[in-house]
Amino acid sequence: MTLYTRLRSYLRPYRGVLAAAGVATFAFAALDASAYVLLIPLVDTLFRTGPTGGSGDPDPMSRLLDATVYRFVDVQGDPLQAVQGVIVLILVVFLLKNLFDFARTYLVAWVEQTVTRDLRNEVYDHVLRLDLSFFGRTRVGQITSRLTHDVEQLRRLLTTELARLLSSGFEFSVAVVFMLLLSWKLTLAAFVVIPGAMGVWGLLVKPLRRGDRRVLDLAGDVSAQIQETLSGIRVVKSSSAEDIERERFRSITGAYHRAFLKAEQLRALAGPLTETLATVGTVVILLYGARLVVSDGALSGAQFVGFVALSIKLYRPVKYAAKFPTLVQPGLAGAERVFEFLDTPVEIRDRPGARVLSSPTGAITFEDVAFEYRPGEPVLQDITVEIPAGSVVALVGPSGAGKTTFADLVARFYDVTSGRVTVDGVDVRDWTVSSLRASMGIVPQETVLFHDTIAANIAYGSRGATELEIRVAARAANAHTFITALPEGYDRVVGERGTRLSGGERQRIALARAILRDRPILIFDEATSALDTESERLVQEAVGRLMGGRTVLVIAHRLSTVRRADLILVLREGRIVERGDHDSLLAAGGLYRRLHELQHPEAVEGVQRVAHTPPVRSREARA
Ligand code: ADP
Repeated sequence: MTLYTRLRSYLRPYRGVLAAAGVATFAFAALDASAYVLLIPLVDTLFRTGPTGGSGDPDPMSRLLDATVYRFVDVQGDPLQAVQGVIVLILVVFLLKNLFDFARTYLVAWVEQTVTRDLRNEVYDHVLRLDLSFFGRTRVGQITSRLTHDVEQLRRLLTTELARLLSSGFEFSVAVVFMLLLSWKLTLAAFVVIPGAMGVWGLLVKPLRRGDRRVLDLAGDVSAQIQETLSGIRVVKSSSAEDIERERFRSITGAYHRAFLKAEQLRALAGPLTETLATVGTVVILLYGARLVVSDGALSGAQFVGFVALSIKLYRPVKYAAKFPTLVQPGLAGAERVFEFLDTPVEIRDRPGARVLSSPTGAITFEDVAFEYRPGEPVLQDITVEIPAGSVVALVGPSGAGKTTFADLVARFYDVTSGRVTVDGVDVRDWTVSSLRASMGIVPQETVLFHDTIAANIAYGSRGATELEIRVAARAANAHTFITALPEGYDRVVGERGTRLSGGERQRIALARAILRDRPILIFDEATSALDTESERLVQEAVGRLMGGRTVLVIAHRLSTVRRADLILVLREGRIVERGDHDSLLAAGGLYRRLHELQHPEAVEGVQRVAHTPPVRSREARA
């Protein structure tokens, strides 16, 4: 599909409204030009020269006026009354014209907003559908700018500019028809002159487009630089890199400044240049028209006035049509970016024939699984594990060992590169994605709270939960006490990211969320950051309750959690290097024992105290 047909497909559902807008636009253009034509009877009645002078065969315009205006206005009668009659007609024409102006403006705005709404919804839906891997490689700023800025550009192109082009076309045609009715000779003369004047724009289209493109690109660079500096401001400051960044920014704004002025120079030149040529053109029309009036008598003075008014009116639509190609450039660029985004394929989706996973037991297996984010860079290899329903499995290992990736494969955030992961004995790719994920409660390391009440945050993902159920879940998560201590209790609106709640409190809300969801599989990424002893105890207690009767996969950093596990998998560089329970792994004296000693010097007799170093960087820190 070409860009053009694709753009048109967005307008197709609203053909009816567009047609109505077209009719209103035409009526507007016709009435607008008629107002100028009414200058003729105005002058005629004022100087008592009209309607046709009575001699010979009347010209087409006079016949038109006879059939319309002079039916209402008696030119032979009281001159003042006749002039007033014409003025009333002009008034009526203006009123009607404005009525149609309202109609066309509103209808175009309607289509514009409706198409924008459709497009925004489509882009947003696609955001929700896209794989996590996409978000791993795309900058958030890029996605938001497509959702907002680019859609906006597209909106302008689809409607505003097209509506103006259509309107210009009608204005032009109507004016030309009236001019031809007045005098084809003079119209011909005008056509020799006007395109010449407008040709200036034609010459400038290419260089202007190039200039505008560069200005847009550089504007993107400016905002990208600002965005990156803002998000990395700590690094900039701690590296004393302010001077480097300042230099970089100066060079970008400098380039933008030059590019903008260069493009503006052309644009600024084009205006006066066309104006000058148009003036010359008008002079030619005036001279030739005067000749037609005076020596040939082919045109009345009043008609001459009307003709000149119409020809001046003609410049605007012609100028717009000439400028059109330069005006649509940003819109086309925006359209390209939006469509590019919509065309990003979604890889994690239901296979044909995928089944719905209902009331699962929660047994999980990894069968000879390998995984890589980028081809040739294996992150997990030779993973074979059987996790019976209802067992607790802890994943431990140094940072970057692949623990998070392991858990992500169960939830099918990514698809394995080879081998297979099963839930309830069936390849996860053969379950529908939504039913697979619905069988899991996932408690991430960093709890994200939405800007809403605490109750709504707990109920997130459990549609239709009652207030009582929410409270019961909060109690089980040891969150009830701190929530009720807040002035607004469960109705407290937490700010974005849950600021003003401590890490322990946020995690207990996430636990309450998982308890409320009550799913057979729990994936739990323990927070690495140290909580104070009391918080730690409350969280651990809640985790203990949550683990009962479920299959639990926990990325563990705490001794109390690891001790509880039926099976501990020790990962290093994407492989399972040790497996067993706490005691047997300690006795084996391998990597697990070393990690354990590093983290819990107090738990190991005779081992020198080592500073607490959490073994895992958080995902956020890496991103
Ligand atoms: P852990 O949770 O044990 O710290 P991860 O599973 O997060 O380890 O990461 C394992 C490896 O995969 C690391 O080398 C990490 O840099 C890499 N990695 C993680 N996420 C991505 C991603 N979205 N794209 C590319 N590489 C990734």
